[in-house]
Amino acid sequence: MNTSFLVANWKMNYTDQQTVASLHQIVGKSTLFPKTRLIICPSFTALASAHKLLSNTLIALGAQNLNHNTKGPYTGEINSAMVAEFCSYVVVGHSERRLLFGETSDDVNLKSIAAMHQSLQPIICLDGQSDATRQSNNRTLNIDELVIQVREAIKNFPLNSQFLIAYEPSWAIGSGEPADPDSVNTIAAKIREIVTSVLGSDTGMSVPILYGGSVTLGNINNYCKLPELNGALVGGASLDPAELVELAVSIQ
Ligand code: PEP
Repeated sequence: MNTSFLVANWKMNYTDQQTVASLHQIVGKSTLFPKTRLIICPSFTALASAHKLLSNTLIALGAQNLNHNTKGPYTGEINSAMVAEFCSYVVVGHSERRLLFGETSDDVNLKSIAAMHQSLQPIICLDGQSDATRQSNNRTLNIDELVIQVREAIKNFPLNSQFLIAYEPSWAIGSGEPADPDSVNTIAAKIREIVTSVLGSDTGMSVPILYGGSVTLGNINNYCKLPELNGALVGGASLDPAELVELAVSIQ
């Protein structure tokens, strides 16, 4: 797989106007990174404007969440059809959602299936930890917990499903303490092996696996050059448009 993926998770940072201003700067430089698949995930309220601005570019748009129900009395929620009006991707299972909003592996699985029903590609975030281990801020990876989390995320997926996986240890997110690249490579290989065992080797070999957690310009290629990795998911360092362009240029 030649494409390097770069997912920019802008979290709850920019208004619609601020998003548009940043996107103008990034689009203006996008010829500098023709080989990077850049996926920008602004807040819901900026998706319509971002969609208009990015429609004739190679930059893709993603949402940060969705509700798996198709419609009904879910005040404040946004379903996959609403997201698919504007986006090609959606982040699911981010560890902030698991930690702060109590999302379970079942939720992540249902959201992913709902997304794929609308031809959205879920970017499934996994930290390889059970809820109890995450809450206790334990950094040791327990392979059994990783296996359970991956299997729960992708259960009932149809064969040939199109999705991405981002391995993001919760303790590395926003902490300035990225995970050790060698262990990330080993974990990515294990994730690929589990996906292969559940969905077959075509999906297992082709699923893009990204790393996220305190990625910066200084360390991004320690991850993107790893044999098992296909890119990075970046939060804090993606907020500055000039820095995001540099990240996209540096990994292609
Ligand atoms: C994230 O939002 O998933 C993330 C990895 O954030 P940061 O790059 O700031 O650690």
